[in-house]
Amino acid sequence: MVDLEDSVLQGLLLNLVGEEGIKVITNMPEGEVTDEEVSQVTDVALNVVRRTLYILFENRLAFYRRERNKDSGWLTYLWKLDLSGINNLLDDQLIKLIKNLKTKLAFEDNNMFYICNNNCGRFVFDVVSETEFLCPICGDDVIFQDNEVVKQCLIKRINELEDP
Ligand SMILES: [Zn+2]
Repeated sequence: MVDLEDSVLQGLLLNLVGEEGIKVITNMPEGEVTDEEVSQVTDVALNVVRRTLYILFENRLAFYRRERNKDSGWLTYLWKLDLSGINNLLDDQLIKLIKNLKTKLAFEDNNMFYICNNNCGRFVFDVVSETEFLCPICGDDVIFQDNEVVKQCLIKRINELEDP
């Protein structure tokens, strides 16, 4: 059973489908339902319901079955929520996050950084060496920034995520 009270899961779902989408998920009827029924029950606009179901489908958290009406020939989509794959999704996101952090760390390792006296920004060596070590935005001096603290923070975060 998926615990929708879990803050990590909530954050993930919120990122995926937004607040209205969360309303759809928490109030969606059990079993197979059409998007129109979901809209009625949850009191969420039909287009938002459709968007939410589609996003959930793309992430394998909802599934549909098509049924053709014998008289009219119309297709009806019957939707069913299945959040059991959400932990896999969390794992995927975690792997992506760790990969991003490692890319950032490599960038920190491979570059020297300079910051502007006026806080315009943080620049790599290649940028400020072309402007004779003046800020490319305001023209003031830039100073070398030791990035050891930044690197240590990244390493700490990576270790925490890899070995919780
Ligand atoms: Zn500046």
